[in-house]
Order: sequence, then structure tokens, then C-alpha cells
Amino acid sequence: MCAKWRLKLNTTKTKIIHFRNKKTPVTNEEFLFGELKLEIVKIYKYLGIIFDEHLTFEECAKTLSKAAGRKLGHLFVINRKLEGIGYNTFTKLYESRVDPVAFYAATVWGTKNFKFHETIQNRAIRMFLGVSKYTTNLAIQGDMGWPSTSNKMKTCVCRFWNRLIKLPTSRLTKQIFLNDLKVRKCTWSSQALKILKTLYGEDTTLNDFMEGINLQQVKTKLNELDEENWKREIVKFPKLRTYRLFKTKFGKENYTQQFLSKNRRSLIAQMRTGTSNLRIETGRYERQRNQNGQLEILPAEKRLCKICESIEKVEDEYHFIFECEKYRSARAILAFNIEKLGKKYEKSTDLLGELLTEKILLKIMADYIDYAMEMRKTIEKKGGEPLPP
Ligand SMILES: [Zn+2]
Repeated sequence: MCAKWRLKLNTTKTKIIHFRNKKTPVTNEEFLFGELKLEIVKIYKYLGIIFDEHLTFEECAKTLSKAAGRKLGHLFVINRKLEGIGYNTFTKLYESRVDPVAFYAATVWGTKNFKFHETIQNRAIRMFLGVSKYTTNLAIQGDMGWPSTSNKMKTCVCRFWNRLIKLPTSRLTKQIFLNDLKVRKCTWSSQALKILKTLYGEDTTLNDFMEGINLQQVKTKLNELDEENWKREIVKFPKLRTYRLFKTKFGKENYTQQFLSKNRRSLIAQMRTGTSNLRIETGRYERQRNQNGQLEILPAEKRLCKICESIEKVEDEYHFIFECEKYRSARAILAFNIEKLGKKYEKSTDLLGELLTEKILLKIMADYIDYAMEMRKTIEKKGGEPLPP
């Protein structure tokens, strides 16, 4: 045929891939192009998508997430150059620069569950919030309120479902889709249908979706699912002791907004997520000998405040903000500022929550943390109380 039309074929790029399930052995057949025996390969890249012999798309998702990681690197540079950017700008940049690479052709492979993309998205959020890699992902995801990567993939699939439904039957793609629906075993449509069932209930049937689906509704349902998962998981992390006191709803937090500088945003985020340098956190890496002489992690109740050399008070967020006598001068300014805003200053977890959440209080809270942390550093170094500034 090719000879007849004087068509040349790039034989180095012409390969054979045998798509099959994992139990089926690869074919023994030989495939020839003229005299040339074609190589049978495990993966093949076509139009930017990596197809593997078992159609798991794992290699594809991994490669795309790596490319997305490189795009994220550019965002790091922009963020540094612009001395930090606000939430809306950062979200826009991420969605327009990183997501299109990460979710390239996710309509095809997005029915599967991959974690690679979540790693990239978490890295982006950590960079924006200014927290370390030891910060619990759930906390930063909850504060940022971005849809999860699984949510984004499923949205792509649902959007494509609608496109297929609306295609005229004369189109080849539509015919393949209709055929795929008939097979419905480990096919794209069976997996897409599974997603729809998790959203609309197990008692729904294919017929319920053959007129197309309401994408807005899908997005709402996916967001609800994100929130449900988050609520279920959040209780499992002891690190989030303070966080859980005031954070009950998944969604964008005030402190992520532009009125706080990058450095201030980071101070608040660390205090909320339990990753500041307080001993309750660093004590995890301290060891003590138990009764049997074995080394064990220093228990939380023994992570006492070394700054005021307390014999009973654990250095946690509450102690740092309301109790530690070493920060008296900083606290006086905090109390003054709180009362200036018409609020009552009192030692309470309620106020702690408000200080780390409410827009009018965040700035003065960040000022306190900044000032008190500086004092803390000086005390740690010199072992004495610094002079007030
Ligand atoms: Zn103390």
C-alpha cells in the first residue's frame, strides 16, 4: 500500500504494542513491514500520551506530573521575583501554567487514581504558604481550599462524558464510545460510570446519564466529597491539635489573602499547622530512656518550655501566645492592639482561634509571633531575656 502511494514510513518510530490485561502473555506473533520485523514495545508515546501495554497510564501520569513539576519551578521563580503574590494571582497562575500540563489528556487517563499530581499540588501550596515539607498536607489543603487533584481529574472525565454524549452518532468517536458502553468491563466508560455513581448514588443507572450531566452540580458534589474526606482524615493527626480547635470547614482562609506579606503569611501558617519551632513539635525528635532503659520519643507532656524553664508547662501554641512569661512585653502590645479593636483580651482557646483566623486580628497576631519568635531565638542563643526593642 505504502509502495503504491510512494509513501515513506519512519520505521524507527513504527512499533507494535500489544494491549492486554496483566494475566495475558504478550503475543508471539511477528509483525513485518516489508522485510523488516517490527519491535514489540511495552510503552508507546503518541501525541504526548504514553500508552502502556496494560493501559494503566501510570507511566503517563508520572511523566506528566514531572513536567508539571518543572512548570511549578517557574512559578517559584516568579513568586520570588514578585516578592510574593496574592492568593488569587497564585491560584490563577497555577491553574493556567501547571494544571494544563499536569492534566494533559486527563479525559483519557483521569478515571484512574494517581498520587503523583497531588505531590506537585502540595508542593505548590507549601511554597505559597511558606511552610516546611513536614507540614501535614491535610492542614495546608484545608487552608488553601483548592480542589483536590482527584477532583480535578474527575471533572475532566465528566466534561468529556458530556462531549461524547453530545456528539452526533455519525462520528467515529461516538460510535467507539457507544461500543465501549456495551462492553462495560474495565473500559473507559465503565470507570467513568463508576465515578458518576459515587457522586449520584449507587442506585443510579447508565440511563440517568445518557442525556448528559450538569457539570456545575458535579463540581459541587466533588467539592463536598473533598470536604468529607478531609473531615474524616483530619482527626488522625496529633500535630493538628491547635488547628482542629478552630478549623472546622474546608476552604480558603483569610490569612492566605494579599493583605499579609509572604513572611507574615508563613508565620501564621506555621502556628496554625503546628510546625513552628515550639518544643511540642521539635520534641518529637528528642529521645528519653524509659523504665526498661530503652530509648523512646519524648512524650508530649514532657516537652516543657525551656525558654521560661517551666517545670510543668508544655511549650505549645497556647503557652507561646498566652502564658510564657518571657514574652510579656510582646504580649502587652498584643493585648493593647486587641482591645483597641474593641475585643476583649483573655487567655482562651477561643481567642487563640480568632487570632489565627479573623481578618482584623491576623496582622497583630503575625506581629506578635514575629516579635516573640525573635525574642525566643535570642533567649535560646544567649540563655537570657532580651531587652525590649
Ligand atoms: Zn515558657
